[in-house]
Amino acid sequence: MDMSNHQDLGKTLEQSRSGLRDNHRRSLARLLFLVTGSVLMVFASLQLFNGYAWISALEVAAAGLLFFGTPRLKNTPHLGKWVYGYLIALFSFFIAIMLVPDASVAAFVWVLIMPVLAYLLLGKREGLILSGPFMLLGCVVFYFYLGNIGSAASMIDLLNMVLCGCLMQVFMHKYEARREEAEQRLVEVAQTDAMTGLANRANFQSTLARTIAESERSNTAFVLVMMDIDHFKIINDTLGHDAGDYVLREIGRCLQERLRTTDFVGRLGGEEFGLILRDVRSEAAYELMEELRLRIAGRELSYGDADIQVTASFGMAQWPDDGREAEALFSVADQYLYRGKRAGRNRVASPCAQLSPGVV
Ligand code: GH3
Ligand code: MG
Ligand code: MG
Repeated sequence: MDMSNHQDLGKTLEQSRSGLRDNHRRSLARLLFLVTGSVLMVFASLQLFNGYAWISALEVAAAGLLFFGTPRLKNTPHLGKWVYGYLIALFSFFIAIMLVPDASVAAFVWVLIMPVLAYLLLGKREGLILSGPFMLLGCVVFYFYLGNIGSAASMIDLLNMVLCGCLMQVFMHKYEARREEAEQRLVEVAQTDAMTGLANRANFQSTLARTIAESERSNTAFVLVMMDIDHFKIINDTLGHDAGDYVLREIGRCLQERLRTTDFVGRLGGEEFGLILRDVRSEAAYELMEELRLRIAGRELSYGDADIQVTASFGMAQWPDDGREAEALFSVADQYLYRGKRAGRNRVASPCAQLSPGVV
């Protein structure tokens, strides 16, 4: 079974809820660290010429920290801490330069970049939590900076700043909410088999990889089952492709109905399905699959005037007895599935049991 296609889509979905995807967030943060560090170095030399040696030293220290952090952002498990540290320090700096007695009015434009950076690096929820109070603080400081608000000119200055700040905040929030929704939808589509609504092959493979990792940690057994509908081609050939599609959807529904909430089911392709039965030993899984086999065989499907009855064959493999890696488990389950086919189909074949005595 080809595992090269494996992608951890669940992780992608999780990341889409907290701003950009992890790798994009890391490269954006690295760029911001480099740019901020370089700008600070320029300001540090200007401050030195201005005679403010202590400010220059502070700026050199901050730039040093940013340059130290830049290469580490690539792999650090503490990306969130670095990002929060950076944003809080930067936003505080923006507010601080507004408080300098002879601050240029241009210093206030930096407030407007705060929601952009916060939403890009932290996502909708945390971006709002961090940038909201800082934006409010920025508007309050600007209000005091203007002093006499009685004149129409200062009122216009205040309104320009406050309105522009509010619009930036609202637009970033809306944009990020739509982006998250769109990405979530895309990931769901990429994970789902359109015909049956079950997990597709890539999703099944990444879930199996996660289940193996979890079982390695907790040392709890699980069972992989491969199920293939018997003589499915005959349905297509006699009743048409649409009838075949209908049977696939019904069998998919039957699998979903029967399984426990902890189990996982996916369509691996064609008329082949995969099941992950968590926290069970082979014997209990075998009983469960026997019940499922009988249920499928006893189910009468009506399609137009035709009543369709299908059977399925099952092959099982248990982690870790039959293999610790996904490929080994798939290979064992596949071998047992075809052993069941060779023995006459409509059977559950497992290393722990004789072939079940189903009759085709
Ligand atoms: P066996 O008992 O050995 O599994 O026989 P089978 O006929 O089920 O298996 P075979 O591999 O010979 O045929 C599978 C058929 O499933 C062939 C293919 O056209 C059909 N098929 C694959 N995907 C779909 C699908 O999405 N819809 C429909 N209707 N048919 C499909
Ligand atoms: Mg088949
Ligand atoms: Mg098949």
